[in-house]
Amino acid sequence: GCGICVKKCPFEAINIINLPKDLERNTTHRYGPNSFKLHRLPMPRPGQVLGLVGTNGIGKSTALKILAGKMKPNLGRYDSPPDWEEILVHFRGSDLQNYFTKILEDNIKATIKPQYVDHIPRAVKGLVGDILKQKDERSTAEKWDCYDWATETAELKHVLDRDVAVLSGGELQRFAIAAVAVQVSDVYMFDEPSSYLDVKQRLTAAHMIRQVLEHTEMGDRRYVLVVEHDLAVLDYLSDYVCVLYGSPGAYGVVTMPFSVRVGINAFLAGFIPTENLRFRDDSLSFKISQRAEEGIMGKNDVMRSYSYPSMTKTQTKGTAKFILHVEEGQFTDSEIIVLLGENGTGKTTFVRMLAGLLKSDEQTAFEEQGLMDEAAAAGAPDLNVSYKPQKISPKFQGTVRQLLHKRIRDAYIHPQFVSDVMKPLTMDPLMDNGVQNLSGGELQRLAICLALGTPADVYLVDEPSAYLDSEQRINCAKVIKRFIMHSKKTAFVVEHDFIMATYLADRVVVYHGQPGVEATASAPQSLLSGMNMFLKSLQVTFRRDPVNFRPRINKRGSQKDSEQKASGNYFFYD
Ligand code: ADP
Ligand code: ADP
Ligand code: MG
Ligand code: MG
Repeated sequence: GCGICVKKCPFEAINIINLPKDLERNTTHRYGPNSFKLHRLPMPRPGQVLGLVGTNGIGKSTALKILAGKMKPNLGRYDSPPDWEEILVHFRGSDLQNYFTKILEDNIKATIKPQYVDHIPRAVKGLVGDILKQKDERSTAEKWDCYDWATETAELKHVLDRDVAVLSGGELQRFAIAAVAVQVSDVYMFDEPSSYLDVKQRLTAAHMIRQVLEHTEMGDRRYVLVVEHDLAVLDYLSDYVCVLYGSPGAYGVVTMPFSVRVGINAFLAGFIPTENLRFRDDSLSFKISQRAEEGIMGKNDVMRSYSYPSMTKTQTKGTAKFILHVEEGQFTDSEIIVLLGENGTGKTTFVRMLAGLLKSDEQTAFEEQGLMDEAAAAGAPDLNVSYKPQKISPKFQGTVRQLLHKRIRDAYIHPQFVSDVMKPLTMDPLMDNGVQNLSGGELQRLAICLALGTPADVYLVDEPSAYLDSEQRINCAKVIKRFIMHSKKTAFVVEHDFIMATYLADRVVVYHGQPGVEATASAPQSLLSGMNMFLKSLQVTFRRDPVNFRPRINKRGSQKDSEQKASGNYFFYD
């Protein structure tokens, strides 16, 4: 460890040597002896969106609870907590003094969109529409139909009559965001709003969140805080950013506020310029895949190539029917194809067809006529496939080590696999944990190990970034990339985190059509043309950051946005 950690540091590689000297004096809260310590606090500003970025277990939710007035900060003195007077003296001279004074005097109301939306049905019972109507105070206070706007924007109109208990993850998330956005509040907090949402819904959520500042003069006095691991979304929706660094589970330090660009770049660089402090050994950069830029491989490379025919898949559930059309396509080894499309356009269906878990309509029809050769030709090629499903719910009753031993006996101890996959996914601290006790992010990492550790020609990875923090997402993207290049295999990846998707993609498949009804999957195409098609359908444009090349969403209606739209360059025109 780095000598400061009270617990074993799971990131042994990180060694912060030059921590700020005044940290002890700036302890905001400590949960108890030998437990997590938060240093400093982010400072919200009225009328602006403050974004918080940092790994899991670094104190983001702790900071939100303190700023919401739901937890009194003890300044590190868990055994003799200070009174508010002393706390105000502690924050004297900073905007926080003013903020906490307001909390004390005016009884500021803070509303939080909780991180774990899956838990909402346990606490909230009833119909979606009824609950939102009841929570809607802004319609009266601001004299406009906020309820109609929120239910329309959050795509909830078709579920207003449904019970909260039957909502999917994405519907729950949109419900939760809407439920906060319709309330009258002084402080609005959104803890990880993009989980379960597709790219389009993430952008809509960002607009909804910003809207609480924009509608009336009340907006100028409101505070908005957002914790978000999708860095493109955080970038888009924040006015400024505080980074949290430290040692997860042991201590976290909040930096001063930065402009959005400087803050996110500092997080990616692992270096806080104002404190001259390095908190991660390596910096993260997002140069587009070299292969994608070169377009083709060298002459001497021997590639295996595969193809699949055009296919149709009709799925029916009760009276609902979904039809997916797949355009015929080719792919080669050593390439990653990212599937881009809205929720419900059939990405998982396509992946399951490639995995041989679903037969195409054509295949089924030939089989019924007894034409087995024709049937085989009408389906996905017969390849060895390893599949990481979107929904991970293992029934295994042993430890992580036992499961790895059972499922990928050779891989999980193979030196190359250990250094390429196991180590960067920090599997070591999890080995003796029971699989049933793992958190979402831990389960995701295990599922990725299991999928990549299974010998196959094609790897199908469905939404690997779910439940991972921004740093784990980057690690995971690197792991998949390195694995595919070293093993000379192919990967199809479904991914909604825009930065991760562009980092991974050599080529893309774009989905268009009507979610849940009928959609078409394009043939794999180049990153540039595919992204252009996808972004055009979303009506957003992207530029690249000149320092680390990460994609950044242009503000709607900005000069760059208008220019790029006019010239048809939705993606990386610079
Ligand atoms: P983040 O939101 O950044 O993932 P949290 O603020 O939730 O992190 O938690 C930071 C650390 O504090 C974690 O290690 C967590 O286990 C610990 N922690 C959170 N709540 C408590 C509590 N009530 N008592 C003791 N430790 C806690
Ligand atoms: P995506 O992964 O792009 O979100 P899916 O492939 O999971 O989309 O689903 C596409 C559509 O097909 C959705 O409307 C879904 O409800 C429907 N669907 C998925 N599986 C089935 C099934 N077994 N029976 C009927 N409809 C299904
Ligand atoms: Mg949290
Ligand atoms: Mg899916």
